[in-house]
Amino acid sequence: MVIRTSSFLRHSCFVIRHFSVISLEEAQERILAAIQPLPAEEIPVQEALARYLAAPIHSPVDLPPADNSAMDGYAVRAADLAAATAAKPVTLRLIGGTRAGSAFAGDVEVGACVRIFTGAMLPRGADAVVMQEDVKLTEGQPVSIIFSEMVKPWENVRLRGEDIREKTLLAGAGEELTAQRLSLLAGAGIAAVRAGRCPVVGLLATGDELRETGSVLPPGMIYESNRTGLSALARQAGAIPKLYPLLADDLVLTKRALQAAFRECDVVVTSGGVSVGEMDWVKQAFKEMGGQLDFWTVAIRPGKPFAFGQHGEKLLFGLPGNPVSALVTFFLLTRPALLRLQGARELRPPMSWGALAEPLDNRGDRRHFARVLLDADGRVSSAGRQASHMLSSMAQANGLVDVPPGTTWPAGTLVAVLRWN
Ligand code: AMP
Ligand code: MG
Repeated sequence: MVIRTSSFLRHSCFVIRHFSVISLEEAQERILAAIQPLPAEEIPVQEALARYLAAPIHSPVDLPPADNSAMDGYAVRAADLAAATAAKPVTLRLIGGTRAGSAFAGDVEVGACVRIFTGAMLPRGADAVVMQEDVKLTEGQPVSIIFSEMVKPWENVRLRGEDIREKTLLAGAGEELTAQRLSLLAGAGIAAVRAGRCPVVGLLATGDELRETGSVLPPGMIYESNRTGLSALARQAGAIPKLYPLLADDLVLTKRALQAAFRECDVVVTSGGVSVGEMDWVKQAFKEMGGQLDFWTVAIRPGKPFAFGQHGEKLLFGLPGNPVSALVTFFLLTRPALLRLQGARELRPPMSWGALAEPLDNRGDRRHFARVLLDADGRVSSAGRQASHMLSSMAQANGLVDVPPGTTWPAGTLVAVLRWN
């Protein structure tokens, strides 16, 4: 009993002496200020989905690279058809054909036209394409084409460079390589890009009560769930998770595990053992292995006990053990850091406005990040009971609403939902 008390006191003093509760924004700023993006690497565009560009890319070519037909039809000189009407059609000599992938050798001279297909380069001399549905063919050989309408210059022609001009910006530094952007880059002939390296994130779970999923659960024990949820969130944020074995509540073992994780990873995320309990060894172990604890405790619910520290260039995120608190603090504080490490410009989660389908309140004295469900019609409802050990509502939710302390919002209030996806 004496030992328990003194170790508790020692631990609390260590904590209380140095750290005060800070706001979420201050925590986010202090974390981001500590981060330099990881070095970039060159990767093929086919493997670059969801990566972040390290440098802007300008187009090496015009897109389209040449004037070409938007239709199956006939390439003409618009001036030849200026007088064409249904009553007085104009007939042009058919001098050949061209299709996508070939280049017509001759010129379209006055009085002539060329059969053309979608995507084929416009023959020299032609300045418009008439749809095949709008013409008639003469009987017998050689075939001529009868036009009963005028055509404007450049009608049905896709002009060289009308989509992208050579040297214009295709994508900026820090932009996410979406399927759509990758398609544009490939269209401009770009085979490889430079993107920020993906951080390796070590995941440690502390607690004597934790057991691996799939094992038999002795009395007093619980299944460990944080590494599973956090590794999925890390992956969604573009990082490479690395799971470490379960960690007992023990200072020496915690120190040893942190040392290994800091050797092998760019970022170390622990869960549990970061509160004021006498079994909460993470902060002390980190300090004793040479880490600098930057701050501890953030004024949010769930997730107040949250520690951030640096070990050289590497980062510690000490998340609370409660499963909801761990996932929420990771989403609000660790995710932006992982994105910044990859060189991302936008670090905020996607946000949508929705109308409350029912009242939402926060009677507490800290900001509450309430688990909500935003439906496809833009209605927002509570995802269920909000205690920080309750994963059922977490699983139901697709985002969080930031509810200020002492607030009651009636049904119908427009709220901003921070979405996971
Ligand atoms: P702690 O932050 O270590 O005080 O843990 C707070 C609560 O979260 C306790 O009820 C723990 O049993 C629970 N907990 C801690 N770590 C995990 C974990 N990895 N998976 C599931 N529950 C956990
Ligand atoms: Mg614990």
